[in-house]
Amino acid sequence: MIKVTILEDTCKGCGLCVRACPKGVLEIAKSHLNAKGYYPAVVAHQENCIACKSCALTCPDVAIRIEK
Ligand code: SF4
Ligand code: SF4
Repeated sequence: MIKVTILEDTCKGCGLCVRACPKGVLEIAKSHLNAKGYYPAVVAHQENCIACKSCALTCPDVAIRIEK
């Protein structure tokens, strides 16, 4: 099983991970802000993740963990 975790309060909502993901797993939240006042990335379609780690490698703030 694959689990994608976003450390929401570390995220700055830049959207790079959303663009890096080939499977459309991630999106930017529209309904809540994180502790820094940004709309954070959230896991929208966990089931589509192939654990390629593109998102985690792309994130400038190291806010994404991929576990298998
Ligand atoms: S590991 Fe790959 S497939 Fe999974 S969320 Fe990140 S970029 Fe998308
Ligand atoms: S790349 Fe990192 S900082 Fe940017 S939206 Fe994704 S999780 Fe947040």
